[in-house]
Amino acid sequence: MFTTKLLTRAAAAALFLGLSWFAFQTPAFTQTPAAPELTISKVAEDLYEIEGDGGNVAVLITSEGVILVDDKYERDHDQIAAKIRSVTTLPVKYIFTTHYHSDHSGGNAKYLPTADVISTVNARNGILGHKQSNEQPGMAPARLVFNKEMSVFLGGKEVRALHLGRGHTDGDALIYFPGLKTLHTGDLMANTSPLIDYNGGGSVVEWTKTLDEALKLDIDRVIPGHGKVTDKMGLLAYRNTVETLRNQVTAQIRAGKTQLQIAQFMTDQYKWAPESLNQLWSVPGMMKELK
Ligand SMILES: [Zn+2]
Repeated sequence: MFTTKLLTRAAAAALFLGLSWFAFQTPAFTQTPAAPELTISKVAEDLYEIEGDGGNVAVLITSEGVILVDDKYERDHDQIAAKIRSVTTLPVKYIFTTHYHSDHSGGNAKYLPTADVISTVNARNGILGHKQSNEQPGMAPARLVFNKEMSVFLGGKEVRALHLGRGHTDGDALIYFPGLKTLHTGDLMANTSPLIDYNGGGSVVEWTKTLDEALKLDIDRVIPGHGKVTDKMGLLAYRNTVETLRNQVTAQIRAGKTQLQIAQFMTDQYKWAPESLNQLWSVPGMMKELK
């Protein structure tokens, strides 16, 4: 009896580890021992973007230092530092993080001794509350927080962070460079279809409203959380994809489809692989939010 119980426990633990392992196996969160090679490219005057591994990092150079948007995983820190050194000798002074996920805020701990990390209140709470099921160990929250809006002025340039509502999480910040008419969206625009983190307060209903507010900004250029730099039309197209997805899933749920059937529909229509984070995080929440 005792042995059987132990075996059951061992089996449960193995199953849990197996599921955790699966959760890592999606493109946006792929974890490998060595950090993949990163690339840096110029986006606008004094603005660069670092791609690869985690979320896209924006690098703004001012005469008084560097402002970053997001800092990927902790393991990417040295490569990010090297890429920044390839374009400026000035130190990083501020890091705006777009949300609490490890592939965007995982480098915070490395920067906190020498720079100020800024996020929304909810993004800080997401890290403190360990709301990400597959979070990187040693996550550190921002030291400076805001609710709706906050700007940093450095070297005559402004970087403005805006929380315009829920979407990917309940603490998404959009980072706007007014002088360059450029917007970093965090994961409010990422990859080809939305990942709705319901455990982190995300909402597919609010997502389009949040992007509608963002689209009111004067924007020439858009840096998504993952994927290639685009423009305002690219952001509008993404917003419309979110709306189409939501309308399709709403119709399916109201026609009586089960969660399993919705999961299959998402695989067929949006390439949401079984056991992907999209399936694990977004489908159960959509069943509740869209019924
Ligand atoms: Zn994310």
